[in-house]
Amino acid sequence: MSVLEKITSKDAMALEEKYGAQNYHPLPVVLSRGEGVYVWDVEGKKYYDFLSAYSAVNQGHCHPHIIAALKNQGENLTLTSRAFYNDMLGPYEKYVTEYFGFDKVLPMNTGAEAVETAIKLARKWGYEKKGIPANQAKIIVCQNNFHGRTITIISASNDPVATENFGPFTPGIVSIRYNDLGALAEALKDEHVAGFLVEPIQGEAGVYVPDENYIKEAYDLCKSKNVLFIADEVQTGIARTGRLLATCGNCSCVDKNCSGTPDVKPDVLILGKAISGGVLPVSAVLANDEVMEVIRPGNHGSTFGGNPLACAVAMAALEVVRDENLAENAEELGQLFRAEMQKLVATSSLVRLVRGKGLLNAIVINDSEDSSTAWEICVALKENGLLAKPTHGNIIRFAPPLVMTKEQLLDCISIIKTTITSFEK
Ligand SMILES: *Cc1c(COP(=O)(O)O)cnc(C)c1O
Repeated sequence: MSVLEKITSKDAMALEEKYGAQNYHPLPVVLSRGEGVYVWDVEGKKYYDFLSAYSAVNQGHCHPHIIAALKNQGENLTLTSRAFYNDMLGPYEKYVTEYFGFDKVLPMNTGAEAVETAIKLARKWGYEKKGIPANQAKIIVCQNNFHGRTITIISASNDPVATENFGPFTPGIVSIRYNDLGALAEALKDEHVAGFLVEPIQGEAGVYVPDENYIKEAYDLCKSKNVLFIADEVQTGIARTGRLLATCGNCSCVDKNCSGTPDVKPDVLILGKAISGGVLPVSAVLANDEVMEVIRPGNHGSTFGGNPLACAVAMAALEVVRDENLAENAEELGQLFRAEMQKLVATSSLVRLVRGKGLLNAIVINDSEDSSTAWEICVALKENGLLAKPTHGNIIRFAPPLVMTKEQLLDCISIIKTTITSFEK
């Protein structure tokens, strides 16, 4: 047996504390195995995963179809760089563009890289197609967004923890209130705006669901001003919110072949996280030819972007989403989850509200923003066999893998209710 197999939770946490940069504050649990909706810690305790690696593991942990693709491709070819063609990239590009209904894809690895790519794409389109004067292009973003951690992306952030002492920041970013069409209309008066970058639901901010008409009307406003509507669906996409994409918002269909509503079709769609089922960092920027054709050889790239291993894994991961009807399941279970949490809101003095779509939900704790109640509840949930994490403020996000069954969800709801009730004074 190797040393690693014998490590205790305590030792593993001590190693991270001593040797790792302290850029995260994890819940005190050390995981060593995952299968479907479950994970196990190094001592063998079993948990429901109610975070899904921030919605990267929508297909469940170590999904056999995705792991089979990983193993098979891993034995053949993993990386060529884009200096040469490989036999997986073309088939993947055809698959992913047809799947989401776009002409072209630009493959990257992490979500942040894909957001950076989208911003570069929008700027270049702005100069070459819209005619914005050199170096004047602006991107509109929303307050309390989360788009990743690079310098340009945090330049769009108003979170002091994410930005303090990281300046100077990238210029050309205009921040407006989320879910405020008036603010958007005002910002769009500037003819130098190339794109509007928005999350259909603000996940990290605490699962803020905008008004029903917001995304559609924001899209229409952008269209009327010849501004690219850029949807960051890194967290909301790939069936998480009960639709293949959250920008399908007002579309009532849960058709597994649906690739967007007739009325809201982002000009630029950013995907990451679950596009690989949490197996590898895979991200994608999708757009039609009119936009993507501004990118020419040498303009942009990534050594690992579009590698054959990622392509094989991503195709398998997207097949699972379709074959197992994960959007429909997320929609159905999400309704049940919110209805049950609503009952808790009615009886509990601790839970102020529940909100979300599909299986991207959150409860807001009835306490001051900076109290540690949400954290303490998450620690207690862990003791009771369910892993969730507080997000900004006193909010707990609940986002289990979408392969969950109704029976498992009911079990989880009972754990959550019992745990929270035990906190009532
Ligand atoms: C997680 C996330 C990102 C960043 O993805 P990384 O892979 O962590 O770089 C960007 N946008 C949204 C909405 C996200 O949730």
